Amino acid sequence: MSLKNKTAIISGASRGIGRAIALRLASEGANISFNFLKSKQEAAGLVEELKTLGVKAASFQADIKDYNAVKAWVDKTRDTFGGLNIVISNAGIIRDKALALMEPNDWQEVINTNLLGAIHLCRAAIITLVKQQSGVIVAITSVSGIVGLPRQTNYAASKAGIIGFTKSLAREVASYNIRVNAVAPGFIETDMLSEVRQEAKEKFMQQIPLARFGRPQEVAGVVSFLVSDEARYITGQTVVVDGGMAMK
Ligand code: NAP
Repeated sequence: MSLKNKTAIISGASRGIGRAIALRLASEGANISFNFLKSKQEAAGLVEELKTLGVKAASFQADIKDYNAVKAWVDKTRDTFGGLNIVISNAGIIRDKALALMEPNDWQEVINTNLLGAIHLCRAAIITLVKQQSGVIVAITSVSGIVGLPRQTNYAASKAGIIGFTKSLAREVASYNIRVNAVAPGFIETDMLSEVRQEAKEKFMQQIPLARFGRPQEVAGVVSFLVSDEARYITGQTVVVDGGMAMK
């Protein structure tokens, strides 16, 4: 229970990796506030499940693309939970297509959700962390932003942007005792992976030395380490969780 009495705010935790992170941090004692876009029923179910772990939990329907909605969610969390200690930027989408077929909307939705959404959440939370002179931020990026993947020019650009953002913010706020890191999953078994074409999944499976896709809990475990005091000397890093797929 090393996170007892800490408050974690997580974007996009109604499903997938965000959900696994919420359950993991709650199992270590953190109170959890998360947002989602559409999945009301899943969000309500997760709040109930989190409460059975003995922590405070709340969900907010707030579009991560909308700064004012994100700011209202962050402020309400801080005021009702009595503080803010851990910020996890996780909400993300894919709209995979060959570049020639990609419509402006496919670009805008992906960049605005993945990259601008991460910036919105961190910007809304940072002043609270600076004032209290402590806090940890973890942004979920992707191996796609490191090695690039075909049909993901929009997604890879958004995820590479998160890595640059993470490094820059880590330098900017280190003197306030705030650490900022990123986690780059490879292929993880969630609803998002089911949107990837079967032939692409089979091809990429051959490039994974551990010969399987990852589980959301395996990403959550790394996030748990990065937000813990065990990682107190780690900032500005991107930790890859991909079964060896993108190793250099
Ligand atoms: P997922 O199962 O599709 O879940 C996405 C989550 O983000 C949902 O909770 C969704 O809410 C939320 N979300 C999407 N758009 C939103 C918006 N505009 N405002 C608020 N919330 C929004 O995806 P996942 O696989 O868990 O992915 C989580 C993160 O990991 C993403 O950043 C993704 O890019 C990254 N990642 C995933 C993989 C993988 O293989 N799965 C690999 C590398 C990186 P609703 O339920 O309401 O839609």
